[in-house]
Amino acid sequence: MVAHAQRSPFDHAPCFEDMTSSLQSTARQPKGMLKETREVVALARKFKEEVMRPITLSMDRQMQKDPEYLPWEFVRKANEWGFYTLWVPRIFGGKGYNSPSMSYFLEELGSECLGLSNLIGVHYLAVVTMFATFNIRLINKLLREVEDGQKTGIPCLLSLAITEPGAGTDVEEVELVDKGNVGCQATKVEGGYLINGSKIFISSGHVSRWHIVICYEDLKNPSDTMLVLPVKTGSKGFSFGRKEHKMGVKICPASELNFEDCFVPDDLVLMNKEQNQKNRRNNKQTNSQMIDYVVSTSRAGVSAWGTGAARGAFENALDFAINTEVNGKRLVNHEWAQAMLAEMYKNVAISRLSYVETNYANGLCGLYKTIQFKPLFYYFKIVPKIVIDYIIRPIINLPVTTWVFRKIQLDGQTDAQFHRTSGWASLAKFTGTDAGVKNCQMALEIMGQAGLRQDRRAEKILRDSKLLQIYEGTNQLNRINLFKCLAAQGHSQVRVFEHE
Ligand SMILES: Cc1cc2nc3c(=O)[nH]c(=O)nc-3n(C[C@H](O)[C@H](O)[C@H](O)COP(=O)(O)OP(=O)(O)OC[C@H]3O[C@@H](n4cnc5c(N)ncnc54)[C@H](O)[C@@H]3O)c2cc1C
Repeated sequence: MVAHAQRSPFDHAPCFEDMTSSLQSTARQPKGMLKETREVVALARKFKEEVMRPITLSMDRQMQKDPEYLPWEFVRKANEWGFYTLWVPRIFGGKGYNSPSMSYFLEELGSECLGLSNLIGVHYLAVVTMFATFNIRLINKLLREVEDGQKTGIPCLLSLAITEPGAGTDVEEVELVDKGNVGCQATKVEGGYLINGSKIFISSGHVSRWHIVICYEDLKNPSDTMLVLPVKTGSKGFSFGRKEHKMGVKICPASELNFEDCFVPDDLVLMNKEQNQKNRRNNKQTNSQMIDYVVSTSRAGVSAWGTGAARGAFENALDFAINTEVNGKRLVNHEWAQAMLAEMYKNVAISRLSYVETNYANGLCGLYKTIQFKPLFYYFKIVPKIVIDYIIRPIINLPVTTWVFRKIQLDGQTDAQFHRTSGWASLAKFTGTDAGVKNCQMALEIMGQAGLRQDRRAEKILRDSKLLQIYEGTNQLNRINLFKCLAAQGHSQVRVFEHE
């Protein structure tokens, strides 16, 4: 007979830490982040007004007429505004804005157009994947190309390629990947690896110069043979396949990437089993930790997009209700409409809090821990570029720097800490993206037939926001991950993603 549980997860000791990231951060995180975040939001608003608003609807229609269109013009514009280096640390050639400020930026842009803002945000999905390997020499090498791309006006974007034709949800969790049907294989040859297989639904694939590819040496044992390899567009054996014709986020290409004996030299391997042997955890656990580092930050970003969509829908509905008369009085002065608009506002506010709390957790014990450590944060702000170029850069390229970062970030992170960041990121992801879809539905109820018209934008936000519930792990998967990481704490009987 199964005994009744004695305790709620909320009684469990780590729960206090899990629910107080923001409180703990008040004292520990640099105050300078607030000033920067203000600047970022102001910049986002300016870009939204001047660049995005005039083209949001016409681009969506352009994609309906010509689904093969590639948005180079917009990508060049975003590059001119410096968005592909804004959140790259200064030691890697970027402007070094604090990472949590990106979520506010994505919310702002997402409230206008999720497709266009994906063309900026997805680049950082690949950047954080490189960071999660803590291979400092290679991070420096690739990000210097991004910096040059900004200087020359020829954008250098990155994409992340993990999803395969036979494995979507499965590749998001190391516990699931062995049950999936992965097919993208890396075979060791002299001097490097040969990749064979394909990836699908890769955001920004067709407009990216580098693709951070997750592949496996043994397809029967992927969890223990995972590798992270960068592949450059134009490499021998690499080609683009079809571009998906999808219901929303149309302007951002979802690309198929094909690999046929595509060679990646040893000195470009971001992470493999051999490198992981130097870590405290075994290889499988390190792979799981690395994926968790990625999704703990990227899911906060997707939550911010969901919040943006929820806000876009709210703003549309409010504007409509103010300017429309029903039964002899303005719609906004009907109490039922006020109650619905208040509910929509609440959805935006709660979603925002969920991604903010996740970012606090990431700053305390996740990917941003080192870079937001106060002395380092301020040092990297003021250190002259000449010191970076002539003193810091040569140090970055030493193997010992990668070793130190892996000791601090990989070995130094406790299991409770990575459960906290991963659990909160999942909570934020489904909270924000469900709120996006919910608010779109409510906006359409308030707006009636007007909401269905393409020129009112509400139907576009609904089409776009539905996709957010699917990528970065479906919302079902994220619910299960929250259950695994936080809700089931302290119950040794519970098994998630495995049989009892
Ligand atoms: C617009 C868009 C952009 C994308 N961009 C990228 C990108 O840049 N890079 C990239 O690598 N991928 C990208 N993806 C792929 C995305 O990450 C996957 O679609 C996602 O992980 C879900 O996988 P799937 O679509 O194969 O669904 P499936 O895995 O086939 O899932 C189908 C259903 O089964 C459920 N399910 C599956 N497994 C389990 C389980 N073990 N337990 C419970 N329920 C389960 C799911 O929740 C879902 O409801 C993108 C997808 C979209 C739609």
